[in-house]
Amino acid sequence: MTQQRGTAETLAMTFEERFEGAPDVVVRAPGRVNLIGEHTDYNDGYVLPAAIDYDVTIACRARSDRTVRLYSALFGERASFRLDRIGKARTQGWTNYVRGIAAILQASGHALAGMDALIAGTVPLSSGLSSSAALETAACLAFEISSGFRLGPVERALVAQRAEREFVGVQCGIMDQFIACLGRADHALFIDTRSLAYEPTPLPEQGVALIIGNTNKQRGLVDSEYNTRRAECEEAVRVLQLANPNVQALRDVSLSELDAARYRLSERTYRRARHVITENDRVLASVRALREGRIAEFGRWMNDSHDSLRDDYEVSCAELDAMVEAARGLPETFGSRMTGAGFGGCTVSLVASDAVPRFMERVGEAYKAATGRTATFYACRAADGAKVVWPAGRE
Ligand code: ADP
Ligand code: MG
Repeated sequence: MTQQRGTAETLAMTFEERFEGAPDVVVRAPGRVNLIGEHTDYNDGYVLPAAIDYDVTIACRARSDRTVRLYSALFGERASFRLDRIGKARTQGWTNYVRGIAAILQASGHALAGMDALIAGTVPLSSGLSSSAALETAACLAFEISSGFRLGPVERALVAQRAEREFVGVQCGIMDQFIACLGRADHALFIDTRSLAYEPTPLPEQGVALIIGNTNKQRGLVDSEYNTRRAECEEAVRVLQLANPNVQALRDVSLSELDAARYRLSERTYRRARHVITENDRVLASVRALREGRIAEFGRWMNDSHDSLRDDYEVSCAELDAMVEAARGLPETFGSRMTGAGFGGCTVSLVASDAVPRFMERVGEAYKAATGRTATFYACRAADGAKVVWPAGRE
């Protein structure tokens, strides 16, 4: 399995080799890194992700029949399915994200045309950077264009989320698909996951770099633990509703209200709820800090977020903790935390731009010494959401 940074032109040429003739368009959708607001999205809370310049790219061409033919450059596999009978694939799991999009679009009343599509990507898989949402979102845009209609970006995000929940079977929140559709270059996106109100927030233009560190530890426990955390949050809501029937989600609860109900909650459920409630507060405070250019303060909120995820929510692991600790050991680091669901995957750090090579070297060494594993680092820029990238000038 290889991951290459190919240009849209290269992808268009590879399409010609695989499918004969040129594609109609090449679309891309980005992976994402969440700067702060972890495990808040399924609690109706706030998040602050940025789309990144690692993406899933699809070259596609409409067909006159109802067949979808796919080729994955990453897996070196071809696959096909018919739009009249979309079943879930048992092997070639990567096709389920595309099948799911087609199934949900059709279930929502859209008439789809068949399509030939070549899929490539640079988002590392299953590392917490949401390659799945990038694939879903790119596939949705590809079907829209091939079938001659267009969704708005929020609608596209909702289709992609439904595909992941209802077809693939992962009970995800809305954040990943939303940022893959609505990201903006050089901005983070503040999202209220209840109302879906959002606001792009500029990242510093100079002096600050965004570094993702991959622990290269597979996220083993993540599915079962994710479901357990969701259940614990629901349990906390049920108990908190006894005191206040207006509580629908942890989003509606303040820390003092939680503390007043502490005696009704198990110690563990209390800590889970405390993470979510304080994390929402941290997102609001850090968005203010970012808007007003207080990067050092922003970094401290990132650090606090990690500590809360480690101690109260218990979704970190030795590898994430080691990498975060190494990052924080450098004076050029503003802040560092785990990002994504946890139990492996990636960290995100804000670092003085001129210290990026030193950061990668030092943190890599310290991480290796602590865990025996080799880290991978990605220096990122915040990127645009899903869009057409070829031919030039086509929207
Ligand atoms: P994450 O979203 O954190 O990266 P997931 O397990 O949710 O991890 O999704 C990863 C899956 O998405 C992969 O196993 C693969 O099936 C699919 N996928 C992502 N990117 C690509 C790609 N470029 N080509 C083919 N499949 C991909
Ligand atoms: Mg995913």
